[in-house]
Amino acid sequence: MITIQNNEHERKILLLDSPFPLEESPDFPEYIFDAVFILNDSVDMTQNILNTINPVTSVKCCYKPFFVSRSLEGKMGEYADLIDGYFDDWNDVGALNKVEDIINRRSELKLTSIEDKIVSANQFFVRLFRFLIIRDHLKLDLELDNTSATGYVVPIINVFYKLGWYTLGELFVFIQSMLEKGYIRSTQFVNRIYLCPKCLHSHLLYIESCPKCGNSMIQSEEVIHHFRCANITPEHTYNFGGQLRCPKCHQMLHHIGVDYDRPATVFTCDSCGNSFLQAKMQAVCSNCHTTSDVKSLVPQNCNIYEITKEGVIAITSLNIGFSIYTEFYDNFLEFDRFVNRIRLLAEQKFTGRIAGDVLVGKIWILDATAATVANRAELLAQICKYFPNNKVSAANNITYINDIVTDYKGDQEQAILDFQILLSEAIRAAAYVLKPGEQICYTYMKLEGDGSNIDQFLNDLQFVTATPDDAVDYNPEAINPNATDDTSAPLRDDGTVDEFYHAPTAEELRVSNEVPLPEPKPQPEVPQQRKFNVLYILLAALTIVAIILAIFILLMK
Ligand SMILES: [Zn+2]
Ligand SMILES: [Zn+2]
Ligand SMILES: [Zn+2]
Repeated sequence: MITIQNNEHERKILLLDSPFPLEESPDFPEYIFDAVFILNDSVDMTQNILNTINPVTSVKCCYKPFFVSRSLEGKMGEYADLIDGYFDDWNDVGALNKVEDIINRRSELKLTSIEDKIVSANQFFVRLFRFLIIRDHLKLDLELDNTSATGYVVPIINVFYKLGWYTLGELFVFIQSMLEKGYIRSTQFVNRIYLCPKCLHSHLLYIESCPKCGNSMIQSEEVIHHFRCANITPEHTYNFGGQLRCPKCHQMLHHIGVDYDRPATVFTCDSCGNSFLQAKMQAVCSNCHTTSDVKSLVPQNCNIYEITKEGVIAITSLNIGFSIYTEFYDNFLEFDRFVNRIRLLAEQKFTGRIAGDVLVGKIWILDATAATVANRAELLAQICKYFPNNKVSAANNITYINDIVTDYKGDQEQAILDFQILLSEAIRAAAYVLKPGEQICYTYMKLEGDGSNIDQFLNDLQFVTATPDDAVDYNPEAINPNATDDTSAPLRDDGTVDEFYHAPTAEELRVSNEVPLPEPKPQPEVPQQRKFNVLYILLAALTIVAIILAIFILLMK
């Protein structure tokens, strides 16, 4: 059963009692209901429905008031924080008031517009935090949960971990970035735990083993120190018919602390017989099965965090440059900061403080009419990942990569060629973002001259060239290494996403596909030059071998 009823305040209530493909259903658009009541007495069934129909990840239900049956009160576990109340009657005063409260709070925070489909973990976190802010749920309490990956969890966040909305690494990066910005703060330290260095899970088995052979069949035994003769040997050597007698001086031992003590424990390996004072501690991860030395485990502080006032403003704001796609990448710079960086590098170069060349790679996409298209979040994310050690920016329909190449191995030309090769590879790796008829291109700019032309150089950053160094056409077989979503909303220059973008329909794509493609661009000669270099090295090596042989023959004479 799924139906819509008006409540006494003329709000439209979506009622359902079983799973329903609400997101895909054209009969229930977002605007025809204001709140959701799930009327089912089964905890499992209600949780199952909430996995897709919930106020965080569902586009149609985003931030809307959610209620479940009265009988489920206290039974919803981790899902409890997704629920605004337990009522069987949508005209119950409590339910009526709660619906109004949430709708009003949403307007106050100006979070009334429809949210996009979530395509990245960061976008998910922003969505969840907005939901929490609307509910005035600013404190993220931790609970111990033996079914969770990290042991300590914020239940509402963990629900979505289990549903696959983010990875642990993505969560840690997001929390760190929120802390650095002052959007959340720690109100209480709970514990420091240690995680598997490979998968960041906390379910570790600790194994004491022999440092020589690694076997964990080891016995521990106390060592006895006899004061009178200074003998120090394991306890069993003192065993004399149930009493303690020194194996060296044969005196009986009576009082610990007076004639002997037990200063240490020794281990003996059952497998190799090795005796040792300190066993090797290892941790076996029950999730990824990796065995790690305990020293290499990742320490993680578990804190209770609270969303700050600044956080509330930033997270609910669409325009402060809190870029939900690019926030992940440490190497992303907003364009004005990117330009400042290039200016600074130019000053350093022209005053001789840095050697080498300052390069800026530019990547852009042309549509079938050879016009540049708006920057895409997906392309930017791909480039950030491809150039982890370079600063990356996006503006003017261009994605930028800054590189400083210094005369390594005495071959500056090769260093520049290597940057070009990387750019060529990067546009190939990113080709999956193309739509039919599109082409992805790159070129690069090299800062030259004496410093008087820096303004010209910075100005030229805005433009693309008609003759890129390399270009790749749309290929329907290009593989997207990340997501399965094919809509890619354009990015504004501040890194936020254009909400009013509408993805082209199949029909539009078909039409644009019929426009003749621009002339294919020549491929760069970069890879061939690499081959020549290898040939040179081989030739040089052969020559050296010949010379050594000649000397050897001379010496033999
Ligand atoms: Zn003794
Ligand atoms: Zn051993
Ligand atoms: Zn692991």
